[in-house]
Amino acid sequence: MSSKLQPARGTRDMIGADARRHNAVADTARRIAGLYGFEEWFTPIFEDTRVFSRGLGDTSDVVAKEMYSFEDRGGESLTLRPENTAGVCRALVTNGLTQSLPQKAFYAGPMFRYERPQKGRYRQFHQIGCEILGAAEPLADAEVIAAGWQIIQSLGIAEGVVLEINTLGDAESRDAYRAALVAYFSAHAEQLSADSKTRLEKNPLRILDSKDAADRALVEGAPLITAHLTAGAAAHYAAVLRYLQGFGVPLRENPRIVRGLDYYSHTAFEFVTDRLGAQGTVMAGGRYDGLVEEMGGPPTPSVGWAAGMERLALLMEDAGRTPAAARPVAVVPMGDAAETPALAALQALRAAGTHAEMAYRGNLKRRLERANKQNARAALLVAEDGGLQWKDLDAGTQVAVSLAGLAGLQ
Ligand code: ATP
Ligand code: MG
Repeated sequence: MSSKLQPARGTRDMIGADARRHNAVADTARRIAGLYGFEEWFTPIFEDTRVFSRGLGDTSDVVAKEMYSFEDRGGESLTLRPENTAGVCRALVTNGLTQSLPQKAFYAGPMFRYERPQKGRYRQFHQIGCEILGAAEPLADAEVIAAGWQIIQSLGIAEGVVLEINTLGDAESRDAYRAALVAYFSAHAEQLSADSKTRLEKNPLRILDSKDAADRALVEGAPLITAHLTAGAAAHYAAVLRYLQGFGVPLRENPRIVRGLDYYSHTAFEFVTDRLGAQGTVMAGGRYDGLVEEMGGPPTPSVGWAAGMERLALLMEDAGRTPAAARPVAVVPMGDAAETPALAALQALRAAGTHAEMAYRGNLKRRLERANKQNARAALLVAEDGGLQWKDLDAGTQVAVSLAGLAGLQ
C-alpha cells in the first residue's frame, strides 16, 4: 500500500462518543415517533434511479448535481438514495399499501449526496424521518411537525432551535406566484448567478433557495407567495398554524422557505438553529401531495420531514448531552484457581441483565487498575473457594454476596 488508507472524502467513522450520540438520536426518535403511531420502514439503500429522478422537470440541486448514480453490471441505472421520502412512496405503491391509508412511516439510515464536505455536511450522512401518507388534512401536517418537535425536545437540544414555517400553496397559487417571480427576476436577470438563470426558465421558485450571495440579495426583494394564495390554500395554512398552537409548538412564519426538493406543495417548514454555522437547518419537510402518483400510485396526499442525524448529534454535543459510556461491573478472580468460579459469577450477572466484564489476564493489582480505567461501578472479587465480595468502587464499601444474590444487586 503506497499511502495510508483514509475514509473516502465526505465520509466518517463513528466510534465511542460519536457512536453513542448517533444511537441516542436514532433510539430517541424511534421511541417518540412510536408515541405518535409511526412504524419503522426499511427501504433499500439503492434504488432504480427513476425513483429519485422523475423527468426533466427536476431542478433541485439534489437531483441535478448531488446524486451518486451508477450503472451496475447488468446495465441498470441505480442511485444511492439521497433521501428517503421517494423510497417510502415507492414502497407504499410496491407493497399495495395505498389500499390502507393513512400510513405512518418512520425511518433512520444513511443517505448519499455528492457535495462539498464541511462541518455538518457530508457525502454519506444519516437522516431520521417521519412521513404520514394518505392524509390531506392540515391536522396531519401539524401532527408530524409536533412529533419532530418532541424529538428535538427529548434530545435536550430544543434551546435555540425554532420552527420556521411557510406555505407554497396549491398548484393554482403557485402558478400565479411563479408568474410574479418570473416578472421580478427577469427584470434583474443580469444580476442572477448562472445557475439561477437556468432556474428562471425551469423553476423560478428554486431561486428562492439559492445559496449564492448575489441571488440572496435579489431574493430579499422578491414578491411573497402570501399575496397569491387561493382561498383553499390560505385556509389549509391557517388551520396548520392553529393546530400547531393546539399542540403547543412554538413557530415563526418565514415566507422565504421553499425547500430543497421539487415535490412540495402547501406546508413547508424547517427547524433551524444559529448554532451550526451555515448548516443551520436540522429538520426540514413539508407536504408532497403529488409524489406517490409520480411513483405510479393513486393520488395520495402526504406530509413529512427528514432531519440530519449528524446535525442533531452536533447539537447534543454542544448542549453537553453526550450519553456516558456504560459502566461495567468488573469481575476479578483472586488467583488462577478463582477463574472458573469467576466465570459462573460473570455469567450470573449477565443473565441478570448487568453489564459485566472480566479481563483476559493479569494479577489482582492489574485487574483493579483496569477496572478503574474502564470506570467500572463495582468490582466483584471472587475467591478461590468461590466466595464473592461486592466492592462498590464509588462508595468504597465492600459486602459479601452469594451467587444467587447477584440478580438482586442491580
Ligand atoms: P441544505 O440546505 O442544508 O443543503 P437540504 O435542503 O439539501 O439542506 P433536505 O434534503 O431537506 O436538506 O434534508 C433534510 C435534512 O437533512 C437537512 O435539513 C439536514 O439536516 C440534513 N442534510 C441534508 N444534506 C446533508 C448533508 N450533506 N450532510 C449532513 N446532513 C445533511
Ligand atoms: Mg442540500
